[in-house]
Amino acid sequence: MIVEVRDLTVRYGAATALDGVTLSVAAGELVALIGPNGAGKSTLVNALCGIRRPASGRIDVRGRLALVPEGRHLFPSLSVDDNLRLGAWRRRERDTAHIYALLPELTPLRDRPAGRLSGGEQQMVALGRALMSRPDLLVIDEMSLGLAPKIVGSLVAHLRQRNAEDGLAVLLIEQNARLALELCTRAYVLEAGRVVAEGPAAALAGSP
Ligand code: ADP
Ligand code: ADP
Repeated sequence: MIVEVRDLTVRYGAATALDGVTLSVAAGELVALIGPNGAGKSTLVNALCGIRRPASGRIDVRGRLALVPEGRHLFPSLSVDDNLRLGAWRRRERDTAHIYALLPELTPLRDRPAGRLSGGEQQMVALGRALMSRPDLLVIDEMSLGLAPKIVGSLVAHLRQRNAEDGLAVLLIEQNARLALELCTRAYVLEAGRVVAEGPAAALAGSP
């Protein structure tokens, strides 16, 4: 397993945002975490990244994890290339050439300020920046928010290719269940801080 979360409980004051959540992602797996607003998805991302300390439970991470955050969080006045470099894990590993090879759509944009790009282009940069650290697992928070189906389709195609060629694992956190179940083979449904369903994506796609 790259990530193993066991019986995780996270509270904000008296409010329980995650209540005994157990989930895992194995090497090379494509896993979806779906759930409505307020289910606890962002809280789980923050706990995985060490931003939010759990009240109880365990999080084991083995391997390198990179986050594609909700809202992309690029530096708008820096170029695409500079934004990519900020994803480098080691300061001396700042060669971005491999990212343009993986995401050729970014090549003509490399010197443009990130703030001048379309939402879809910015999401592609956020993906490229996360890939700079050569992660074993990408945690992707609400990738499809506000994007046209065509660009979402090309993002999904890139993720499939990285999975097939490099064994990249993905934890796709989405309100858009249809998209999540299209890419992923296994899924968890989170509601009010609890996992209320889990299983093969094909089985969950058939239920309402
Ligand atoms: P999601 O990402 O699925 O929309 P969140 O993890 O943001 O869900 O929120 C889960 C629950 O925790 C919600 O009830 C939300 O109101 C509450 N919550 C989130 N952040 C805070 C916070 N900083 N302080 C208090 N309550 C919070
Ligand atoms: P440098 O400054 O030497 O280029 P960093 O300071 O960015 O590298 O690296 C910080 C730490 O991160 C290093 O001590 C190293 O142990 C760890 N690290 C860097 N690259 C990797 C990697 N590819 N895999 C695992 N750990 C790494």
